[in-house]
Amino acid sequence: MKSQFLEMREMGHMETDPVNRDIRVERFSSIAAVPREVWDVGITLPTPMQYKFLELVEKSGINDLRHWNLRMTTAGAELARANLFLSETDFSTFDAKLPPSARSTIKRWSPDFMTFKVLECGYFTMIGEGLVVRDALAFPEALRALTQEMDRLANEEIADFVVIRDVPVAQYEAYRDILRPLGYYPVLGFPNAVLPVCWDSLDGYLAALNSKTRLKFRNSLRLKEKFDIEVEFTRDYAEHAATLAVLWENVHRHAKDYSREFLDQGFFAHSASVLHENSEVLLFRHRGKIIAFMLNFYGADDYIVLDWGVDYSFEQYREANLYRAATVLSLQRAIELGKARMELGITNYTPKMTLGAEIVPLIYFMRHRENPRYSKTLASLLSANIAQPDPGVHDALSRTGAQRVDLQALETRIKGDQCNIAEHDLFSKVDKYHRADSMRLAGIYGLYPEFRTAQDSCISLGDKQNVVLLGTNSYLGLATHPAVVSAAKRALEKYGTGCSGSPLLNGTLDVHRRLEEELADFLQREAVMLCSTGYQTNLAGLSALCGPGDCVLMDARNHRSLFDGVRLSGADCLVYRHNDMAHLKILLARTSGRRKIVVTDSLFSMEGTVADLRTICHLVREFNARVFVDEAHAIGVLGPGGRGVCELLGVESEVDLVMGTFSKSFAAIGGFLAGSCDVIDFIKHNAGGHIFSASLPASIVETVRAVLHIVRSEPERRAEILHKAKFMATSLADLGYQARFYGSQIVPVILGNYTLALAAYCRFMDHGVYVNPVGPPAVPEEASGFRTSYIATHQWSDLERALEVFARHRADFEVVAASADATG
Ligand code: PMP
Repeated sequence: MKSQFLEMREMGHMETDPVNRDIRVERFSSIAAVPREVWDVGITLPTPMQYKFLELVEKSGINDLRHWNLRMTTAGAELARANLFLSETDFSTFDAKLPPSARSTIKRWSPDFMTFKVLECGYFTMIGEGLVVRDALAFPEALRALTQEMDRLANEEIADFVVIRDVPVAQYEAYRDILRPLGYYPVLGFPNAVLPVCWDSLDGYLAALNSKTRLKFRNSLRLKEKFDIEVEFTRDYAEHAATLAVLWENVHRHAKDYSREFLDQGFFAHSASVLHENSEVLLFRHRGKIIAFMLNFYGADDYIVLDWGVDYSFEQYREANLYRAATVLSLQRAIELGKARMELGITNYTPKMTLGAEIVPLIYFMRHRENPRYSKTLASLLSANIAQPDPGVHDALSRTGAQRVDLQALETRIKGDQCNIAEHDLFSKVDKYHRADSMRLAGIYGLYPEFRTAQDSCISLGDKQNVVLLGTNSYLGLATHPAVVSAAKRALEKYGTGCSGSPLLNGTLDVHRRLEEELADFLQREAVMLCSTGYQTNLAGLSALCGPGDCVLMDARNHRSLFDGVRLSGADCLVYRHNDMAHLKILLARTSGRRKIVVTDSLFSMEGTVADLRTICHLVREFNARVFVDEAHAIGVLGPGGRGVCELLGVESEVDLVMGTFSKSFAAIGGFLAGSCDVIDFIKHNAGGHIFSASLPASIVETVRAVLHIVRSEPERRAEILHKAKFMATSLADLGYQARFYGSQIVPVILGNYTLALAAYCRFMDHGVYVNPVGPPAVPEEASGFRTSYIATHQWSDLERALEVFARHRADFEVVAASADATG
């Protein structure tokens, strides 16, 4: 018969690798493969690292972990031990902004969403460093050897992340100096709660408390007389394993705090046998029935509160405050057993601080196996979502002289160490930007999709054909219209490709002048100025007209280019709530006597809502202001003549300036401002965005002229657009979506969460429907969802196809249905 030692070695997959001349690393793929006398001897191991504790976690099979143990020796002498495990960790629960229903929907679509294979050095279920070094001097070499071994293992297992966790503050710099150059990022993790036990009896502890807490705690122990609850500590709890598992699950189903352990019946049964000498369970029985328990482990010096379960259906659950009683009774046991400290684990700080436990910060170091940017992304995700305890909560013991870590200073230091670019460097903000990488890491990045055809009812998108396009601004569907395309071609041939100059000097063609005149005629305005984009038009117009000391009153949902224009002008910007005329009136009254202009989108591009231009014009008259209307989405679509909302609401003569773009209905690019001769002439000679930028190429100008001709001659296209939009809004609302028809071609579908909207956008693309995802900052988080828009050339069969995809996914969304408002 082989010796046990040999047999064990063969069971495990063991490798040896000289890291340098002195250090040998042996890797065991199971603690069972390590001879116990080798593991626990020659080096002082903390409780969770001792053989039987590792054996329990491994044997119980919790969370389907894989385990490895490293033994490092130097010249035959023991040097270090490390405990590693590989878990599938679901980080989606870390995103506080992602509601559980949205999370489960995304998970249904992509089960791997935010779930990563993480190779960790540390312990599962307990807290503490997973690397133990015998000799502090050898720490740097041992840590380097550890990282090399972890790298090898991570590559073999194709892990996503490597994490070295639970590093105490005192060790932080030593770890950081080695790990940071290797691409690890530090993050402040979940802390430990530790209560140094320095009393001879529970009464001694209670006497040390402030009087209010003492009274609370004393009362919490009167369980028998008040609630008829019996209390018992037992080491023989295997027979209760099934009950404990049920009670544990109760707590974890309700828990809001992050938790990834799954303790089942097997775990409790194994712990009762493997840790028979090192664990006990505190049972609360009401009329014989177990209604709560606390499972505690202990080592030579420490008493560890591992986990807890309760039956919430016990009627007096709240009044009885069983968790408090359990912790106080556990402390009593820790005192009786002569332990030096009690550890209470991570989240839910307040009860632990009330007990007098010290919160001990711990640091994690993490690295993505392949992409250094993702290392930082995960670190920042954890930083943002692991709440540290509130320093305002005082402990009941009022210990003086206790060495408290300055959490805020530590947080600042760690955040600083996460950066690759120094704070004083202008590019440091690039280093702190994680939004796009967060989406990429989560597998829901779908921005910058590549269309391979012109925008029409259907497009080719990447490798997909026939994708229904519900996200285009080419409202009239004219980008491929033969008359439009041939006008552009003719211009190309006659004038060449570009103008190469400012309109003020060498960039004006005869066709520019002709387009200005035709647009002025169409809009019934005296004059028009052209610009190379709509964005630039707003910047040019507002910065030329407004300046320091002036007031610009803006709808909160105005387009970004309008806000940027105001900022460039240096004028004061006053923002009124979206379409809230009472609020606008208050602001106008507040600024009475000052030079001012009201600026608004006419058709709001994300919401599909229409500005109340009648009231705005009325208020503007009353308060002696001017008014500037951005008709980017409305011209060509709304109003009997296609002149936009000003025409639709009959206020054209009251609006001072109208802005429009060629990038939507006009199927080209560029922008314009229309107004009186004097005002337009002033802007043309003073607006940087107009003077210091080259003019539009002739092919674009001729495209726009050809479209303008169609806008004037084919009003039926406009009716077609609104007919389709109304049909879609009604159909979507009938399906139960929160979709409304506001009388425009834009129909928002509100899903309530941006991450969900981004995931749904990718999902819909895969199912042959393109929609635009919207979320902050364009709209508030709760208004996140899809922006759908309808065009004259949408085929009814394509719209039906899109509705089928919406219907198929309806059950995935937990949305408040709103009926379509078809009155617009
Ligand atoms: N104003 C509004 C309301 C817009 O929606 C846009 C474009 N999204 C612009 C101005 C800028 O137009 P362009 O695309 O021509 O730069």
